[in-house]
Amino acid sequence: MDYQAVLEEVAAHARPFVRQGQVADYIPALERVSADRFGMAVADIHGAVYGVGDWEVPFSVQSISKTFSLALVMAQSHGSQGDGDIWKRVGREPSGTPFNSLVQLEAENGIPRNPFINAGALVVTDRLQTLTGDASTSMLHFLREESGNPHLAFDQAVADSEAEHGDRNAALAHFMASFGNLENPVPSVIEHYFWQCSIEMSCRDLAVAGGFLARHGLRADGSRLLEAREAKRINAVMLTCGTYDAAGEFAYRVGLPAKSGVGGGIIAVIPGRCTLCVWSPGLDARGNSVAGAAALDHFTTLTGWSVF
Ligand code: GLN
Repeated sequence: MDYQAVLEEVAAHARPFVRQGQVADYIPALERVSADRFGMAVADIHGAVYGVGDWEVPFSVQSISKTFSLALVMAQSHGSQGDGDIWKRVGREPSGTPFNSLVQLEAENGIPRNPFINAGALVVTDRLQTLTGDASTSMLHFLREESGNPHLAFDQAVADSEAEHGDRNAALAHFMASFGNLENPVPSVIEHYFWQCSIEMSCRDLAVAGGFLARHGLRADGSRLLEAREAKRINAVMLTCGTYDAAGEFAYRVGLPAKSGVGGGIIAVIPGRCTLCVWSPGLDARGNSVAGAAALDHFTTLTGWSVF
């Protein structure tokens, strides 16, 4: 497969979709980003990386971090109670509701539907805080390690902006705490969550960092981060829940495990082949990048590499 030629063709196809949708503004610091941006990278399982457009420009990872916090909790749980522990506190069913919705939590006793809606990600961050003592710094080190980029950093302006406008996430966390589903104090859990969402990475960084998901749990150097069945589980939850209330539509159009963020990034995994990351800041009503979805749709159409 000539990845570079495919990427060029995908970028040309996605170009008319760039600037469609809205750049997220509910976290005001995210609004600074130009809507014109488009980049895409592919990292194959052997370590080769290809890119097009703004593929080396860092952006706010936002909810893409939820994939990595779940992976880190699973990796850190080896030898202790095992990953079964986290699945008692968060489900693995699609929610069919927006990423920051509160509605299901009361009827379901403070157990979020899945780890990729905000409520579920807060539980995962809480668990990571218990396991490591410093969830956001552990995330930063993990992402530096997996991406091979030691310069990755938090964006303080984004973390502060999210904290300032974080009433919804605080409400979710307090509500879960009232059901006894947080181990750490609410202010500390939401602070670490905001920091992890503020990390800046490029398409290149994210495609490389997500390589273990395409390598059935193995890192680039052959060492094992996750068991193969754990990588399978993360991919499965990405497919069914990674793009929120658009997960069905995404599976229909793209047919890959994927995780989006309101920074406009989406990572997607082709198990056994490669990890992709695409970025364009204009979002649709469900918070997924419009040009990013169009690009992934075209990528699987051209290559025939959806998981179906
Ligand atoms: N930090 C964002 C929030 O909690 C992440 C949401 C997202 O990327 N979908 O609202």
